[in-house]
Amino acid sequence: MTATHNYRWLMSEYDATWHCFPSSQVDDPARRFLEASCNHSVPVSKVLDAEPRKLCPDCLLSFGKLLLNDWPRGSSH
Ligand SMILES: [Zn+2]
Repeated sequence: MTATHNYRWLMSEYDATWHCFPSSQVDDPARRFLEASCNHSVPVSKVLDAEPRKLCPDCLLSFGKLLLNDWPRGSSH
């Protein structure tokens, strides 16, 4: 389990852009709004789980940082 597994890319119908949302929010049935890494907030009914086509640059940056943290360093294989 790595940090990036705790996030899901979902499309916001507000801006037709895929944002990075914490899985804990996405999987919580009691939540009515989701808040992306870039602070974009969207009602649960307005997010779409589809193949990403246009990624939010701010979310991409946050996700990229997580990815770098997960990257194995100093290994030679
Ligand atoms: Zn975003």
